[in-house]
Amino acid sequence: MPTDEKVVFITIDDGWVHDPAVAQKLVEQRVPASLFLLPGATSYDPSYFTGLVDQGRVSVENHTVNHPDLTTLDAAGKDAEVCGAEDQLTTTFGRAPKLLRPPYGAVNDDVRLAAKACGVKALITWTYDFTTWSETPATPQLHSGDIVLLHFTPTLGADLQRALDAAKAAGLKPAALMPHLKSAGLVP
Ligand SMILES: [Zn+2]
Repeated sequence: MPTDEKVVFITIDDGWVHDPAVAQKLVEQRVPASLFLLPGATSYDPSYFTGLVDQGRVSVENHTVNHPDLTTLDAAGKDAEVCGAEDQLTTTFGRAPKLLRPPYGAVNDDVRLAAKACGVKALITWTYDFTTWSETPATPQLHSGDIVLLHFTPTLGADLQRALDAAKAAGLKPAALMPHLKSAGLVP
């Protein structure tokens, strides 16, 4: 993200594991994270996320319904995945998501057009994935404008702490995406 400010962007995807300690950290530290949630991962326990929205500084954003590679779908498939998730998340959270994280970061011009038709203002990929998958990745040197990717997995508490520590070590503050997208002229 182009920015002159000393900021990083924390994003957390999917939403399957609902760790109360993570929610507490996000609320207490007022982390302005963007949560790219799958409707199916919120529907069995929506209060975990509505509580975060109400008490913290997070925003809920679009990550499709079924997590496909959108570039492989026809127009109707893209529409069902992006508009479908938009509708479900709007019903649950009372606010329409404005941002889309395309699963696997897979984008092309057709995906951009389909997203726009569903009301998406910007597609957000990432610069570093801090998620502990089979092992914990090496911590990178963060710079202004980096977008950190995390996931709601059992290790999110530790992964989030590593990301916050790396930001602090680089003199960067976590910030919300939308105001910076607007000041960069990427969203009207
Ligand atoms: Zn995902």
